[in-house]
Amino acid sequence: MRKTIIDHNTPNKLPRARKRFGQNFLVDKNCALKIIDLASLQPSDTVLEIGPGQGAITRLIADKGCRVFALEIDRDLSRFLREEFKDLDNVEIIEGDALKFDYAGLIEEGGDKLKVIANLPYNVATPILFRLLEMRASIDTMILMFQKEVASRIVSPPGCKSYGALSIFPQLYSDITIELTLPPSVFKPSPKIDSQVLLFRLLDRPRFEVADEKLLKGIISTAFSQRRKKLSNTLKSFFPEREKLDESFCSVSIDPSRRAETLSVEEFCKLSNIVSHLNTKC
Ligand code: SAM
Repeated sequence: MRKTIIDHNTPNKLPRARKRFGQNFLVDKNCALKIIDLASLQPSDTVLEIGPGQGAITRLIADKGCRVFALEIDRDLSRFLREEFKDLDNVEIIEGDALKFDYAGLIEEGGDKLKVIANLPYNVATPILFRLLEMRASIDTMILMFQKEVASRIVSPPGCKSYGALSIFPQLYSDITIELTLPPSVFKPSPKIDSQVLLFRLLDRPRFEVADEKLLKGIISTAFSQRRKKLSNTLKSFFPEREKLDESFCSVSIDPSRRAETLSVEEFCKLSNIVSHLNTKC
């Protein structure tokens, strides 16, 4: 029998689910337990939960004795959670937007990095992932739930339709594994499709050398803006003349007639480093 998480007889009134905040609440305790098991939590850990919602996962993390920061954008839910957790001094509810939040401020000086756990709101899951990757110096591991289609794009290898910027950056900065697949029935309201939980172990430094991360982002987004076109066409604005483009591609052994989705993460880094080198020479 499925164990449910929230005791609906609680005198603290549950706010209704809001679509605009991507609220699909996890209502299956076994699934919540499996998610937090992935974090191998110790009492000395500091955990950030993004979007605690009704607190289903939050309570289980708190039970492990960790310090828990729970960042929730919805004012009514934040108020509900403050009341729910008022007796626990290891839980702090923060009302705020994960897209703007300064994660570094949660770590004590010289303290361990954060473990991030989140059943991400589907409507802003991708920008939140990119924000977390920007803040990666403060993060050790992330256990994040996405819609299955988004999770497939994140772990996609080159050569697939699903491969793109959403695969390259997470793979450049972390080791990623698919850990769980959850059906719509474990959420309320139920989404239309399956969800997947990914475990990200952040690397101390990018997997491949990157001379200029902003430039790499620019190259990747330009290359994928017309993914069916040859790179010699899409990326020509990065080179002063055609001859330089050919020389540069040749120096990193990439055929300029290839298309964006065929380049590995390493090849994108090499190409971007060559362009960076050209720019510093000019
Ligand atoms: N963790 C809860 C669970 O598993 O039942 C709720 C997950 S629900 C899919 C996503 C949660 O993220 C909601 O509580 C929603 O209000 C919150 N949220 C949405 N956008 C947010 C943002 N930009 N920053 C912080 N929280 C956000």
